[in-house]
Parts: sequence; C-alpha cells; structure tokens
Amino acid sequence: MRKSSIDYSIVEDIPQVLPVLPLRDNVIFPYMIFPVLVGREQSIEAANYSIDSSKFIFLATQKNADVEDPTQDDIYREGTIARIIQILKLPNGLLKILVDGLLQGRIKKFKKNDEFFEAEIETVLPEEENKREINALVRQMNKAFKEYVKMNKNIPGEALSAYENIDEADRKLYYVAANIAQSIEIKQSILEQTSLKSQLYEVMRILNSEIDILKMEKEIEGKVHENISKAQRKFIIQEQIRILNEELGEGEEDVSPEFAKFYEKIEKAKMPKEIKAKTIEEINKLKKIPSSSPESTVLRNYIDWMVNVPWSKKTKDNLKIDNVRTILDEDHYSLDKPKDRIVEHIAVLNLVKKMRGQILCFVGPPGVGKTSLGKSIARALDRKFVRISLGGVKDEAEIRGHRRTYIGSMPGKIIQSMKRAGTVNPVILLDEIDKMSADFRGDPSSAMLEVLDPEQNHTFNDHYLDVDYDLSQVMFITTANVKYNIPLPLLDRMEIIDLPGYLEHEKVQIAKRHIIPKQLTAHGLEDKKVKFNDEAIGKVISQYTKEAGVRNLEREVASLCRKTARDYVAKIDKTQKAPARVLIDEAKVEKYLGVPKFRVQKKKDSATVGSVTGLAWTSVGGEILHVDVNIMNGMEKLTLTGQLGDVMKESAVAALSYLRSNAKELKLGVNFHKNKEIHIHLPEGAIPKDGPSAGITMTMALYSAISGKPAKSDVAMTGEITLRGNVLAIGGLNEKLLAAQQSGIKTVLIPKDNEKDLIEIPKEIKDGLEIIPIEFIKDAFKYVFPRTRAKRTVTRKKK
Ligand code: ADP
Repeated sequence: MRKSSIDYSIVEDIPQVLPVLPLRDNVIFPYMIFPVLVGREQSIEAANYSIDSSKFIFLATQKNADVEDPTQDDIYREGTIARIIQILKLPNGLLKILVDGLLQGRIKKFKKNDEFFEAEIETVLPEEENKREINALVRQMNKAFKEYVKMNKNIPGEALSAYENIDEADRKLYYVAANIAQSIEIKQSILEQTSLKSQLYEVMRILNSEIDILKMEKEIEGKVHENISKAQRKFIIQEQIRILNEELGEGEEDVSPEFAKFYEKIEKAKMPKEIKAKTIEEINKLKKIPSSSPESTVLRNYIDWMVNVPWSKKTKDNLKIDNVRTILDEDHYSLDKPKDRIVEHIAVLNLVKKMRGQILCFVGPPGVGKTSLGKSIARALDRKFVRISLGGVKDEAEIRGHRRTYIGSMPGKIIQSMKRAGTVNPVILLDEIDKMSADFRGDPSSAMLEVLDPEQNHTFNDHYLDVDYDLSQVMFITTANVKYNIPLPLLDRMEIIDLPGYLEHEKVQIAKRHIIPKQLTAHGLEDKKVKFNDEAIGKVISQYTKEAGVRNLEREVASLCRKTARDYVAKIDKTQKAPARVLIDEAKVEKYLGVPKFRVQKKKDSATVGSVTGLAWTSVGGEILHVDVNIMNGMEKLTLTGQLGDVMKESAVAALSYLRSNAKELKLGVNFHKNKEIHIHLPEGAIPKDGPSAGITMTMALYSAISGKPAKSDVAMTGEITLRGNVLAIGGLNEKLLAAQQSGIKTVLIPKDNEKDLIEIPKEIKDGLEIIPIEFIKDAFKYVFPRTRAKRTVTRKKK
C-alpha cells in the first residue's frame, strides 16, 4: 500500500503566507472537495484575495461555532491548505466556493492585516514511518470502519465501496475522519497528531468508541421494545377479560359500595344529561383499571369532583326589598349610600330574575366592611356565601384549574368555591380583584373576564373538569382597595360602590352597636354586665388605631375583651363571687393595651415659614403630610429626605424648576438658589412616601422658605404639577378630605380636574371644609399666604 499521494510539485507553488478562512462548524481534511458558504465580511475578503492571487487558501476551524467575530485566539492552528476551484456569487451577497483540500498545514504566525486573517503557514508533510505497522493499522481501520458503517443508519452503504477503492493510507484515514459523525473537537484532534501512525491510532480510538455507543443504543432500543410489547399484551388480555365479562354478565352493574355511592350521588345531583353521560363513562373506565395503578387514583379523584360539584341544587331567593334593607341595617351602621345601591341592585334582580347586568364592586381601604356587606347580601337573599381571595393570583390555572393529566391537579378557585357553596346560586365574593397580576403563566384577568361575563359564564370551562359549567346563577360581588388597579376590561363590567372610610363618631357608633357586642359574645362576656364607656372607645380609636376602616379597632376590642375575661375569672377564683359589673374606662384601656401607639396628627398650630401641609393617600386611607423646607448657605444643591420614592423626588425637582423659571413674577430674586443648599424634608421618615400628588405642597413649601412668608396652618392641599404651572388630577380624594377634616384643616386646595368627583363624596366629609379647585399653581398662593397683602395695606395705612 502506498502511504501517500501528495503531489510534491504543488507544495513548491504554495506561498508561505496565505489568507485564512475560519470555518464555523466543520473540519475539512486533505483530499476532500467541499463546498463552503462564505458570508462574513472578513471571509469574503479572504476568498476574493485568494481568487485574485494564487487561489490557495488556508482552512482552519473555529473553536466555537457560535462566535460571530472570531479573533486569532478563536481559531485552531492546525488546518488544511486548499485550493479554490470554483466560486459562485449568490444573489444575497454571499459566496459559495468549492475548495479542494491539498495537505495539512499549521499557522506559524498571523500577519497584520485589517481586512482579513492572513498567516504564515507551515506545511505538514508525512514523516518516514514503519510501513508494516502502518499496514497493520490500516487493516484494523478497514475492519472497524466497515462495522461502523453497517451499524450507523445515517451513513449510506456506498460510502464503504468508495472507501475500498482508495489505495493510499493517508487518504483512507482522512476519508474515515471526514465520515465519522462527531464533534469538531474530536475531528480536530486528528489533525493535531503529528505522524500518520498517531493519526491512525486516534481514528481507531474514535471509531471504537463510536461503535460501543451504537451497540449500547441498540441494546436500549431492544429493551424499550420489549416493554412496549409487554404493555400491549396486558392491554389485549384486559380487553379480552372485559369482553368475556360483558358476555357473561350482559351489562350487569358492578355494585361495589364505592361505585354504588357514585351512582347514588349522580342521581342526587340531577346532573345535566351530557355531564351524567361523561361521569358514567369515567366510572366505567375506572372499573376496568386495577385499583393500584396511579391512573385509577387520578380517575377516582376526577369522578369525586364531578359528583360533588353542585349541578342543580339551589336555594330559593328571598328578594323582598324591605327584608334586604333590614338585614343590611342590622349588620352595618351608616353606609347609607352603598346600602341604597345594593337595594337597587336587588330590586332589578326582582324584575329580571336572571342577573345579566353589572357586577357590584366595593372599593375602599381595608376594614371598611366590604366583605361583611357581601356576607349580608347573601344572608338577606338566603343564599350561600363564599369568598375567593384573588390577592397575589398570577396564574390563570389558579382560576381555571390544571388539566387532569397532571398528577395532583385540581379544579381552579371558581369550581372549588362552587363545591364549598354546594348550590348553583351562591353569592361569591371575589376579594381584592385589583391585586391580581399577570405573568408568564398567563393572565388570570382574562379568565376572570369569562367568569364575570353573562354572555360567556353559562359555559365556563374549567381545565380540570373539562365540561361546561353554568355560572350564570351565581351572584358575583367584587372588592378592591384601589379602583385604578382593576384591569380595565373588568372595570367596564362593574358598578363601583365607594366605601371611603369612617369618621371618628361613626367608628364610635360601629364599636358600640356592632363590634363590642360581637366581641363580648365571642369571649363569653355577653351577660356579664361588661360596659365600655365612651371615653374608652374614643381612646382606642384615636390612640391605638390609625386606619380608615375598623379592622384594627375590632382587634383591639377583642384584645380588651380577652384581658377582661382573664381578670373576671381570676376575680371569681379569688373571691368566689362574680363581679357585679365591669367598667372599661380609659385607665383600663391603657392598662390592657399598653402605651398608646399613635398620637393624633393634627394641623400645625401656627403659621410657619417653610412648612406646608399636604394630603396623602396610603393603603390604609388618607393622611395629612407636612412638607418642611430649610434653606442654608452652602454648596448649591437640593437635598431630599424622608424616604421619598422616585416620583416624589421628581415632583420636588419640578417644583423648584417652576419657582426658578417664574422667580421674577413671584418676586423671589432671580438668583435665590445661588450658593444655597435647599433641603426638603417630609417627617415620619419611617413611612415610605411616593406619588406625584405632593407637587403643589412642595412648591408652596419652597416658596414659603425662599420668600420668608409663613404659610397658613389650616390650609392643606393636594395636586400634581407640571413645569408650566398646571395642577393635575389626583386619586383618593375621598380619603384625603376625610383626613383633612379629622385633623382640623379648614381649607383644602384640590385640582380643578377633581372638582367633578366632589358630587360623589358624602356630605359629612365635605362639611366644615372649604374646598377650592385650583387650575394653575399661581392661583394657589393667595390661599396659602393671604396675610402678605393684608400686612402691606396695614403698613401703608400707618404711613
Ligand atoms: P373589608 O372587607 O373592607 O376589608 P371587613 O368587611 O372584613 O372589611 O370588615 C372588618 C370588620 O369591620 C368586620 O367585622 C365588619 O363587620 C366590621 N365593620 C365594618 N364596617 C362596619 C359597619 N359599617 N358596621 C358594622 N360593622 C362594620
């Protein structure tokens, strides 16, 4: 056998320096004619250069195919010197070149070239070697390659005959190397061997390991096959048993107690026909599979759901309007407007029988009675009540369930609550509908939309039950803390009823009429002559709670009752006699509840320079918010403190910009900020604050500090500002006005755009407040700094 067929005359023609073409995902060996698609700018340059000069080119593979812009270090040094024998320009600007691999080469040194890679190449010529050893190795390779081709379905049989026609040892070697389906690294390792002998060893090693892998694959395939045919056999036998059973028993029902119970429930549930058919079909499936199989658990679970969800059972509605009103009044103090709206809603229900209209949505801070109104409605109508909490629901499957194929899958929250209700017409309260959010698992609000849409909800499809379920008789009520966070398409279907929070005197009444009696009963004190005096109730409200609703008030009252019960029992133990009466007064409150937690935030007592009162809106309701500004000599800068969020910081900057650009009209001196440090602080640093509505307050506080004019202490304000001096609308007006009223503010400046909202706000909240709509910032000054003009006239008079 000849060792090699290298044409040495060509070797002499090869220039020492060659353009280098980096290959992305292939290794090209000598003696191979191969088409290469050239697309990268640099590579096109290299190919063109080669065509224009000697036509020789060096093909070297990239270490990582994913690198788009390889550097010298990304390219293997060992490669193949080739000649371009054909070039084809493709319409998209790419080149297709046909290369003829000549012999191995190695990059000695890259040349400096900005357009393409160019390198000094050293040719790698075969060394003199022991012929007999090479022959023996080639024979081994022949055998291995034959076996490899036979086992590998991806290599056509012709590859073998082509191989057998090759005479030269190195050519055979490169042929095998090119035909092994292996990674670039492994193919490259063949080029990296320095002698033919070591290359042959390397190829043999790769071939043998490939053959081992193929054998293993075959073995696994055989085993899988065997498993499948076993399962098939089992299935056939089961089928035969089933047919025999059918023939023998001729449709006789299996009456094991479990199935008997299912059938009984199906009858009781009065299922719609298709549902019944589907359930019976599933029961028949269950009968046929062994009870130990996991599939049987899944099926049993499913049937259990089907027979336990209500399909027709319903309660009879009590739609008497008087009764509804009585019950709402029994359970809740005040809330007249919401109660009116609920009664109207139910009046309509009287007339249309099937509710196809709007869905009630109670909006307000926590503890104002949203959930308990829902409960009352159910009680008034004699319907069952279920609450579904939607807070933090991110996944559509939580509403609509998971498909039955998952182990442990279950219906979604809607069907679960139907099962809890046990009737097809409960009142379902969808709590915190504004706290749902969408993520990659799908948007729960789109599922909610289907639930709430009367056009669609009679065929609600839960993924688990996988049958249409009729929700059209359910009365849905929703709640939210903030209207603005309710997904818009849902908001469209809702009738918003605002519950802004309670005034202090209302809280006292709620405590006296509802909370205290309820808690006394809960703690076994109802007939023990325990009494709270008014001062005690007032103290709990103002010094132990800070909220728009009465949830914490209820908690504190519960805590008082608990401690009273403890002392009551202790006293009986000691004196063997029950106390005649127990009075809970202010001293007891402080004794049982500890040091007061809050002091009432009141307006400032006197007009102060650089300090202005704003109104804020937090999740627990409205609050007054002081803005303090100091101006000091020093480096020119604006410092903001008091845990402000980004939006609030931006409003501060906007406020300052407004004042600077209007400094002349406002008589502030154009350079008022020169060499001054301006410090804006919002006290109560522990509470994070954000939102744009303090814009106007900050402007006024800055103005006061700069001009030295004191701001009136009984004026509070809210409003976003623009750089042009407009005042924009804000949210939470209701709660803000409530806070203003409670802290003794007399005048409130609100954005003109919010004026329309005033109609909706209860009279008691507006009482005693002078509410002034403001369109431009400049209109606000006269309300905040009214004394300046008066003073001037006084001084003039003196003169
Ligand atoms: P929300 O759902 O708005 O967070 P809840 O309905 O849970 O609030 O109310 C908290 C507690 O306050 C309940 O025990 C409720 O009965 C009571 N409550 C709220 N408002 C009133 C009211 N106007 N009259 C009587 N009790 C009330």
